[in-house]
Amino acid sequence: MKYKIGLEIHTQLTEAGTKLFCGCDSNYRKYKPNTNVCPVCLGLPGALPVPRKQPIILALAVAETFNCRIPESMVFTRKHYFYPDLLKNYQITQYEKGGGMPVCLGGTLKYYDPDLDLWKKVKLRRMNIEEDPGKTEYSEGNILASEFAYVDYNRSGVPLLEVVTEPEIPTPRDARKAVEYLLLTMEYVGAMNPRLEGSFRVDANISVEGGERIEVKNIGSTLDLERALRYEIFRQRKIVEGKGVVERETRHWDPVRGITKSLRSKESEEEYLYFPDPDIPMISTEPLLKEVRKRNITTPEKIMERVSRLGVNRRTAWSLVTIKACAETFLEAVSIGADPIISSRILAIDYKGHLRKSGMNLYKRKNWPDPIVLKKISDLIRNKVYTYDEIKYNIIPKLVNDPKMIHITLPEKASPEKLITEVMNEERKAVWDFYQGKKEALDYLVGKVLKKAYGKAMDPKKVRKLLEESLYKSSNIY
Ligand SMILES: [Zn+2]
Repeated sequence: MKYKIGLEIHTQLTEAGTKLFCGCDSNYRKYKPNTNVCPVCLGLPGALPVPRKQPIILALAVAETFNCRIPESMVFTRKHYFYPDLLKNYQITQYEKGGGMPVCLGGTLKYYDPDLDLWKKVKLRRMNIEEDPGKTEYSEGNILASEFAYVDYNRSGVPLLEVVTEPEIPTPRDARKAVEYLLLTMEYVGAMNPRLEGSFRVDANISVEGGERIEVKNIGSTLDLERALRYEIFRQRKIVEGKGVVERETRHWDPVRGITKSLRSKESEEEYLYFPDPDIPMISTEPLLKEVRKRNITTPEKIMERVSRLGVNRRTAWSLVTIKACAETFLEAVSIGADPIISSRILAIDYKGHLRKSGMNLYKRKNWPDPIVLKKISDLIRNKVYTYDEIKYNIIPKLVNDPKMIHITLPEKASPEKLITEVMNEERKAVWDFYQGKKEALDYLVGKVLKKAYGKAMDPKKVRKLLEESLYKSSNIY
């Protein structure tokens, strides 16, 4: 049974600095409830919205990145509905009909699927800038179970960029990958930080063949997006297969129970009474676009190409690119002469692994090594002073705790031959087991040698090779 998936991704332009039509802070999270507000974002009578430049510039930068068609001017539109978190009883948004004009139309969201090593595409319908409403907190945590709700207007008026795709996403997993790529790109563009709590929400439209379109609202993570879509496909298929009717409605995703629940029957667009906002003049895009083009905007795709051209395999390249701070460290180190293959392996595999294990923030640049130190280390490997594994076991764990490590204290090299002889004398049972064909005895012996070398540089692969040689040499004694 075929199905269609389309997405509306609401992303906050968290890096804009201000709200969309006033000077209040775009990052509202650090304020006490209802303190990041002013007459404009509280919708007080007589207060006039004045469009801020920075959010619009960021939105245009994102539009350019996805090759969207940018009209000569944009017109803000009022969308009317009543809800306690919306003080004016209308939301200022953009809409291509009824005399309005959004920031852009069309475009292509090209996204990378690392499992298939493939770039895929989904067509975009439009992107529009709009203001975020306030935030409703429910006394029991969710809308269905609560008797009371509280409203905090700190978020009211924060700039959102809504990205609308065509309903042509092939699978729930693709939906997740596409959104993750969009968010990563917006981070590279400098428009948002997708890790801030509530910085994006997704509404997903899904219909199976023979049924009406269902909208699942307010999905807060990309993992939940995939889960919600899988659930809906399953639920709608069952209805259609049982000769039931899937009626058009809006549903709510419950991440704890992993199900969707009916919220209301879907309203039609006419009910919102869209019309151009008479308080806000038409904004011509040309001068703003000139400013956007002056900026050096980079994208994950461009970085991926650059890293691949340096000879790094695509899997490692993607691992670098998914964390901007990691990709930046890599490119800086390479620009001062670090070996790209060695440095990419250190950063994207071993260093990243250690950062994760120690619970440190992967997205903070200061947690990644100083590019100069990285170059020195990669030189030690390239010039065969140390093997990769010697660096991996002896230097990288220290570097994670001290990424600026100015004085690299190089571990003294241990002599594996001497230690191997010692271990073979001490571990006679394991040696005997090895001769009896027990392969795991070799792992045990390697472990014993490494333990003896504690604190000194030793390459486990080299130890294994030497140990095997010694064992075969002395096999005639047994
Ligand atoms: Zn304000």
